[in-house]
Amino acid sequence: MTPKIERFLDDHKLPTPCIVVDLDKIEQNYLDMHAAFPAAKIFYALKANPGQPILQRLAQLGAGFDAASWEEIDMCLAAGAPPERISFGNTIKKATAIRRAHAAGIDLFVFDSPEELEKIAENAPGARVFCRLVVATDGAIFPLARKFGTGTDMALDLMHRCTDLGLVPYGLSFHPGSQQTGPEAHEAAIGQVAMLFDALEHDGIQLKMINLGGGFPSRYQDEVAHIEEFGRGIDRALAYHFGNDVPEVLLEPGRHLVGDAAALESEVVLVSHRSKTDPTRWVYLDIGVFGGLNETMDENTRYVITTPHDGGPTGPVVIAGPTCDSFDTLYEKTNNRMPLALKAGDRVRFHATGAYVTTYATNGFNGFKPLAEHYI
Ligand SMILES: *Cc1c(COP(=O)(O)O)cnc(C)c1O
Repeated sequence: MTPKIERFLDDHKLPTPCIVVDLDKIEQNYLDMHAAFPAAKIFYALKANPGQPILQRLAQLGAGFDAASWEEIDMCLAAGAPPERISFGNTIKKATAIRRAHAAGIDLFVFDSPEELEKIAENAPGARVFCRLVVATDGAIFPLARKFGTGTDMALDLMHRCTDLGLVPYGLSFHPGSQQTGPEAHEAAIGQVAMLFDALEHDGIQLKMINLGGGFPSRYQDEVAHIEEFGRGIDRALAYHFGNDVPEVLLEPGRHLVGDAAALESEVVLVSHRSKTDPTRWVYLDIGVFGGLNETMDENTRYVITTPHDGGPTGPVVIAGPTCDSFDTLYEKTNNRMPLALKAGDRVRFHATGAYVTTYATNGFNGFKPLAEHYI
């Protein structure tokens, strides 16, 4: 947690649950990424956290945006992003959304199927398009491979059809899965993309852009590679596969830019023993899966949680949310321990909750409102 967030939480005793986002930390993450990839264009994947102050800060810094819907595009435009710095990066788009985006000046669209390519041709005539490839996602905590991307043969075929359809075959993309803890998956995928670049060039189609997706990690309980390490590894792979002819590189970080730039405060509602013999306490908080902590599903994201009693003796716990749904349990399988002194009314803090939390909150399930957001 940044000192700025800590001070803000200490000073304000805000109603819980609430999340505090440090915009300066996001700026720092962006600048660090820019330094690690000086030649790349950074398009923030705003689904990770579309808070308007975040979009405004990034737009001011010159970032681009990877948007998934007309509504997300609209948010970027409202934040001051010029249309030429917005990519419509969802392979599943409504025709009306494509038409609106095109009318607003968006000129970069992704596809991974003939049907979507035809839809773009019809609704955004003349646009630049790129094809999303399916790549290995080994090492990712959240693989996205089954739902998105197409294989090499189909990609070749579709890139060949672009010109006939009145579109500009512009590039290729992939996403190696979210929360990749090192650069190996990106490096391997670059080789795959380079082969396609070559094959297409041989057929007279000169692509201009390679989009390396997101996947850059945030630090939760376990150590992850520094962004500089990603920069070095990816640079090496690009030089190896493209030589002196490296195309325009696009990055679409979501999690990495915002993940460690926020913390969440929650109140302990109940600490209970459920049997006379089991030493495990159940700790119920005023936030859970339905309050935005969706990434705890299958205990994928293991947030660092701090309490006012840290340093004292601890015992085993199950940690759960406040709703009347047993699915609303955060951590049960992993061996979690919390201080024995923990009691109802205490406040606990979840660190690194900037990505994939705020928009995952339900619209009032069981009456619990979405968590309050503070941008500082
Ligand atoms: C979600 C998404 C991203 C961002 O992924 P992270 O793992 O959060 O960096 C980038 N590109 C596309 C197309 C996405 O859907």
